Amino acid sequence: MRRKAHRNTTIRKAHPWGTPPWRVDFRPAPSSLPDQVDFAIVGGGFSGLSAAAWLRRFAPGKSVLVLESASLGDGASGRTGGMALSETAAGQLPGLGDVLAGYKKILDALRINSRLTLPGVWELGHSASAGDSPISWNDSGELIVVRLVPGGTVDPGRVVAGLARAAENAGAQIVERAEVRSVDFANPVRLRVRHEFRDRIQQKEIRAGQVLLATNALSLKLPGLRAAAAPKLTFALATAPLSAAQLKAIGLGSRRPFYTVDLPYLWGRLLESNGVIFGAGLVPPYVGTPSRFPLGDGSKKNVARDLRHYDVRRGQSADRIRWLENRVRNLHPALESVRITHHWGGPILLTEKMLPIFRRHPCSKQVMILVGYNGHGVALSVYLGKWAAEALLARRALPSWE
Ligand SMILES: Cc1cc2nc3c(=O)[nH]c(=O)nc-3n(C[C@H](O)[C@H](O)[C@H](O)COP(=O)(O)OP(=O)(O)OC[C@H]3O[C@@H](n4cnc5c(N)ncnc54)[C@H](O)[C@@H]3O)c2cc1C
Repeated sequence: MRRKAHRNTTIRKAHPWGTPPWRVDFRPAPSSLPDQVDFAIVGGGFSGLSAAAWLRRFAPGKSVLVLESASLGDGASGRTGGMALSETAAGQLPGLGDVLAGYKKILDALRINSRLTLPGVWELGHSASAGDSPISWNDSGELIVVRLVPGGTVDPGRVVAGLARAAENAGAQIVERAEVRSVDFANPVRLRVRHEFRDRIQQKEIRAGQVLLATNALSLKLPGLRAAAAPKLTFALATAPLSAAQLKAIGLGSRRPFYTVDLPYLWGRLLESNGVIFGAGLVPPYVGTPSRFPLGDGSKKNVARDLRHYDVRRGQSADRIRWLENRVRNLHPALESVRITHHWGGPILLTEKMLPIFRRHPCSKQVMILVGYNGHGVALSVYLGKWAAEALLARRALPSWE
């Protein structure tokens, strides 16, 4: 009794990365970990959940387990801006196909009500003449629309929940608070997992026929990427709803999302409520390509672990958020005294030449890696998650983008 009363009055600690405006309204049924599975997927974001849903759809007889160290969407996928973009951060790649068309097809096939709209995305830049640009903002000079490219927006909370629901309905087991601590590259592969279950911590070894590492910017030791990719925290804020007159004044009446093609970087989009999200900034700061500066700040310590310990209310992260808020208030007089309702951060993984990493693990053919979208993974992660399922089932070859 005492324990229950205590639990009811417990106040959930605020997440150190802040709270985004999205909600993931799906929790997997609590379950204990199995001893053995055909496919283990590490990471419950867009990539891992898409792969899980498709593995079970393609091969209903195979067991599929998703291990998520925190809660579904607690990585980038629940904290993203939700702009659905075409191609990859490195542009179109051999054999990639049409990412946006494929993304839409997947969301439709899995019956996910994602609120996907594809009105196009504005690229903004500091160009000499504004001409008939609908946007004219003050941000280190005049910022105007330079191009319209394919793309749009989704509600990322709905996509995370929809993918998880589709995976679970198809028969995949999803386990939250199950962190893969290490991988033994034997055959079958052995995963050592720390699982918080019913207020207790269990350590368990799971044998898996094949493994997909979809861990994004965290746990870089598992995919062996500590020297090849740089994990960062990036930031966003959301404003209170703007009036139609305010939206028209700032040039967002068309509801098109936007990102800059020159520096300082800024991206943004409207919410259904007519609030606007703006995002920018990296911590640790960007100092070069991952190949030359493996850990961004040149340090040798485990940055992946450190990322979890950044707090958006303190230190460098708080500075970056203040810098972003000041920029937003100065963009246009209509934004000067706007109320900010949400501040948050989320992880991104920067890779050499901005190429996604989608390949077998050098230590084992049974382990596949799918990470590193360089902040360009909303549509791509779901699209490549399906491709990963096909590759794990030997129905399709992996690309060779590196
Ligand atoms: C603020 C922000 C804004 C963004 N905006 C856009 C945008 O507008 N458009 C766009 O295209 N992209 C955007 N991105 C990028 C996009 O959100 C990501 O590329 C995408 O969500 C990556 O999905 P994922 O599943 O690969 O990674 P994640 O969603 O990060 O999932 C990885 C999961 O793995 C789990 N994990 C890690 N290690 C372990 C372990 N050892 N054991 C078990 N689980 C583990 C993590 O907890 C996490 O949940 C943005 C990112 C951020 C942070």
